[in-house]
Amino acid sequence: LDTQTIRIIAGEDAHLARNYSPLPVVIARGEGVWVTDVEGKRYLDLLSAYSALNFGHLHPAIVAAATEQLGRLTLTSRAFHNDRLGAFASALADLCKKDLVLPMNTGAEAVETGIKVARAWAYRVKGVKTDAANIVVAHGNFHGRTTTIVGFSDDESARDGFGPFAPGFRSVPFGDAAAIDAAIDENTAAVLIEPIQGEAGVILPPKGYLQAVRDICTDRGVLFIADEIQSGLGRVGETFACDRDGVVPDVYLLGKALGGGIMPLSAVVANSDILGVIKPGEHGSTFGGNPLAAAVGERVVEMLATGEFQDRSRALGEHLSERLEALVGDGVTAVRVAGLWAGIDIDPARGTGREIAERLVHRGVLVKDTHGQTIRIAPPLVIRGTEIDWAIEQLKLVLEAE
Ligand code: PLP
Repeated sequence: LDTQTIRIIAGEDAHLARNYSPLPVVIARGEGVWVTDVEGKRYLDLLSAYSALNFGHLHPAIVAAATEQLGRLTLTSRAFHNDRLGAFASALADLCKKDLVLPMNTGAEAVETGIKVARAWAYRVKGVKTDAANIVVAHGNFHGRTTTIVGFSDDESARDGFGPFAPGFRSVPFGDAAAIDAAIDENTAAVLIEPIQGEAGVILPPKGYLQAVRDICTDRGVLFIADEIQSGLGRVGETFACDRDGVVPDVYLLGKALGGGIMPLSAVVANSDILGVIKPGEHGSTFGGNPLAAAVGERVVEMLATGEFQDRSRALGEHLSERLEALVGDGVTAVRVAGLWAGIDIDPARGTGREIAERLVHRGVLVKDTHGQTIRIAPPLVIRGTEIDWAIEQLKLVLEAE
């Protein structure tokens, strides 16, 4: 490593809590799918900040929306109205074909908001007895890092040492619709799942699962909440992962790419018979719905409304899938691909996911390992086919290296 890189990392380590263990690269600039480190070395960004950079670094249209708004108004709080929030909410509601939007900042906040909405709906609409509501979730879930959310995670490193946790959650195997049906009782407010589990390693449920969950929720009078924070907004070749199966959830949880890689921006989107249960004073956030994020979010939604990014993701995803499938049996034990999103299981004989990720850094490719043997890739949707081919070549080379 270059001395400047070492010096900057040591400087960070001096005063930064160690809740992450970043790969040893210090990024200073980004443009499109490429980033440049402090030494001037370029890397292809195949992570996109966990899908928050679906449009790439510094997309000109998004930067223009942010810059224009920065010169005018950035924050009002929701004590007052601002002249940007309504247009954003209306555009996002249209994209989701729902009628109400509740803006927040981070993904975890959107999930927390979804949980509050589901419980309030259960008490006020469904007639569940006070404090008796439960929510069905899936094994292997990742919905964020707040105490309520990690309380229903089964990942020990997310959970252990952070209790006590909130009651009212039931976890069943992901991909098993009958288990969801069995877990539902008269107090169930909602089923909360990721339509494709991202952090778990891009785990695709069996065909028919999402439709079965939809049918069960409808039959049993339970809300279907889809956490599309990582899977949504073009990542999988459709606007939402639920679209791949033609399924419409009752509630969308959105985040990451909604903020265009510039602002933290998340949202809960649902119809007014559900989201309308929240009354003034019951929920909020100082920064939620701020005009800067709204201006960026409106531009993002406009870009998604054309379908162009979804089409790119679908077409290039097929290309990526073919290239990755060819590696199975040769350093790779399995691949799971949905649009431009892939989980790649590395043969333990070739190294751990982390080791492969570290070797890829030296070859100018940035990915992230997850759960030991898996690397996950989620390139910006503006990537080109030739760039995908180059990245796969680098992966091949590091799989061959000792
Ligand atoms: N939900 C899903 C499916 C996610 O993948 C994530 C982040 O990885 C979150 C929620 C949490 O989002 P945030 O990190 O913005 O709180």
